[in-house]
Amino acid sequence: MIVSRFAPSPTGRLHLGHAWSAILAHDLARDAGGRFLLRIEDIDGTRSRPEHVQTIMDDLTWLGLSWDGSVVHQSDRLPAYAAALDRLREMGLLYRCYCTRAEIAAASLSAPHGAEPVYPGTCRERQDGSDRPSCWRIDMARAVAQVGALAWQDGERTIPADPPSAGDVVLARKDAPASYHLAVTVDDAWQGVTDVVRGRDLFAATHVHRLLQALLDLPTPHYHHHGLLAGEDGQRLAKRHGAPTLAAMRESGVNGRAIAADLRAGRVPNGLHTT
Ligand code: GLU
Repeated sequence: MIVSRFAPSPTGRLHLGHAWSAILAHDLARDAGGRFLLRIEDIDGTRSRPEHVQTIMDDLTWLGLSWDGSVVHQSDRLPAYAAALDRLREMGLLYRCYCTRAEIAAASLSAPHGAEPVYPGTCRERQDGSDRPSCWRIDMARAVAQVGALAWQDGERTIPADPPSAGDVVLARKDAPASYHLAVTVDDAWQGVTDVVRGRDLFAATHVHRLLQALLDLPTPHYHHHGLLAGEDGQRLAKRHGAPTLAAMRESGVNGRAIAADLRAGRVPNGLHTT
């Protein structure tokens, strides 16, 4: 049975780009008689706001989307992430990193504009501890050497995984006992997600997720990275485009099911297009 999910971070209000992603994930499961799950990715304690969770649920209902079972909150799942982290640590694949963002930015001048800089590995060989706050990073070269070549299915295509391109990513943050990469991989497996439908902006993250699946003996879902709704400048729809939030549309009396039908039919509001 197909199991898909929508996994928003409650850090702000949803807009049409999120609606598009939720509709695609929902329809993939529902059209096949499968299950559609809702997961709230709220491990980022500084940016997540509980009040957004109800708004997200109201938005989905307004669009005519229903989900199965109870809503999973990642903030309730911290012991599972800690267990996965322990396992990777016992495999000798994690190290503490004390670098600040500024230090990393200064040491990685080659980061493409807007992208997270690839960590230069400063703390990898460090023997001494420090009182400074630390995160846990994966030693990517060592991890890749353990699992060998990997691939995943993306729509109709087979994608060879290239985890080293991401560098030694963070698996447990300074302020949270997991990172997005770890939490999403552990939860997709735990919830039995067979099909991950999400925007193409998360395509690169899948190289890391595929590696973590191999290391933690977790199944690999079928991925479907979809095109994004973009503004006139060709950039992914964001607050700065002035696009109304779903909540604002709902509150002003717009019919959400009609919006969903329009998106399904490829009709996007003026000024927007799909990439
Ligand atoms: N929580 C992520 C976001 O809102 C999406 C996670 C995913 O679909 O893998 O961008």
